Amino acid sequence: MALIERYQKTTDISYWEGQIPMSYIYTVGRAGEKFFREMMNGRIFGAKCESCDVTYVPPRTYCEKCFARLEDHYADVGGKGTVHTFTECHEAYDGTKKQKPSIVAMIRIEGTQGGIVHWLGETHFKDVYIGMSVEAVFKAKKDREGGILDIKYFRPIK
Ligand SMILES: [Zn+2]
Repeated sequence: MALIERYQKTTDISYWEGQIPMSYIYTVGRAGEKFFREMMNGRIFGAKCESCDVTYVPPRTYCEKCFARLEDHYADVGGKGTVHTFTECHEAYDGTKKQKPSIVAMIRIEGTQGGIVHWLGETHFKDVYIGMSVEAVFKAKKDREGGILDIKYFRPIK
């Protein structure tokens, strides 16, 4: 086949099917480190840009709008928010069927831009709706490890 010719069907090229196992390390960065360290204290932190009057969750080192440095502007944003969108999961990460489905939601933290994807608890899928007020439920302090799973789930505010 000449260089300027093109394959018309994927079956015209040689290939093999398979999987490539990969492991990776993702650095959380300076803002992420603050975010996760504060999880151990049972607090959700964001970064506020005074010029733009925007608070980002998770926190950023720079404002996305004006590029102002935000590292000295981290703040506790509380644990309350609203359900932005949600779904019900019937499969575990390994593709096996879960014994009990879980509810996963994108939570917009009150007064901030951005959000957190996490589980919803103490509710049923049929009762969840977009705009539902929720609050973070943290693990017991002794069980926190400085990660997003220090939040057990978000639950409806009654
Ligand atoms: Zn800004």
